Amino acid sequence: MPETKKSFIELDPNEAKTLLAEVGGEPFRLAQIHNWIYKNHVADWDEMENIPKHLSQNLSEALPLHPLEIIHIKGSKTEPTRKFLFKTQSGHNIESVLMHDKDRTTVCISSQVGCAVDCKFCATASMGFIKNLSAGEIVDQVLQLERESQKKITNVVFMGMGEPFLNYNRVMEGATRLNTALGFGARRITISTAGIVPKIRQMADENRQFKLAISFNAIDEDRRKKIMPLTQIHSLKSLMESAFYYYQKTKRFITFEFVLLKGINDSPSDGLKLIQYLSGLPCKVNVIPYNEIGGEFSRPDEQTIREFLNTLKQAPFTVTVRWSKGTDIDAGCGQLAVKAI
Ligand code: SF4
Repeated sequence: MPETKKSFIELDPNEAKTLLAEVGGEPFRLAQIHNWIYKNHVADWDEMENIPKHLSQNLSEALPLHPLEIIHIKGSKTEPTRKFLFKTQSGHNIESVLMHDKDRTTVCISSQVGCAVDCKFCATASMGFIKNLSAGEIVDQVLQLERESQKKITNVVFMGMGEPFLNYNRVMEGATRLNTALGFGARRITISTAGIVPKIRQMADENRQFKLAISFNAIDEDRRKKIMPLTQIHSLKSLMESAFYYYQKTKRFITFEFVLLKGINDSPSDGLKLIQYLSGLPCKVNVIPYNEIGGEFSRPDEQTIREFLNTLKQAPFTVTVRWSKGTDIDAGCGQLAVKAI
């Protein structure tokens, strides 16, 4: 057994088959086990009712079912939003968020422990980079939240801790499993990047069907460099070129996220520059009034937000506003950070 694979959910199909044979299980048991995991969302081996006791016992002695353990759940007082703290087998902590909004139930999942990208407005950045999550750890966040959720999950967004495109292969493997094993339509899975240009091109070349979101946030090179230092490596110009390339290749709209920061990118003239940048590219813009984390940035007042949005009324693209869910429990966009790791 490879050392990094410490739970059944992290095994690939061949490894799972080998393990089953080693513990004395017939090959047909694999489909039953998969059914318990992906359809019934069981917490442990002994809940698999049609698996003989001796087999579930052997399997549980061989390795745990889940790679993640829920160690804390915090519910918002104002919204149907809950934040989950998981412990990985390596002893690190990650967070995921479950949000209900009318007929949508969305999970926001993490792709890394910490993050190396260092966006100045993001709490995760303060952790630094610790490790990449495995595809199994990515999938397990959704499996466990599905079990905890009163409603069926409709959407998955990779907007939790970490830069998904710096863990590209495992994120794609995890997203593909969400699609094939859990049945989430590819268009219900959104992968959000801070702008890792070669990976945007790779996603287009590979014709991945998942939705792409880019955390944009700036209207000129210098200001973006200040709030998102990765712009020094992946310039705004190269980011826009890769976005146009993605659209030309896939004909799929990109969602540009625009975190509105007081005095940085929130004036009507900033709105006009944003329109200039994105005109000509079929896309959608999601404006996210900043969720404060006690650092140097703050959220613009209501009047400023309204004026900025009024400016965007003349844009040729669709504009939506995302008032983040669960800000009272630090579960909003950019607020995830695990202190005890
Ligand atoms: S916004 Fe995303 S990419 Fe930027 S530091 Fe936070 S987790 Fe990393």
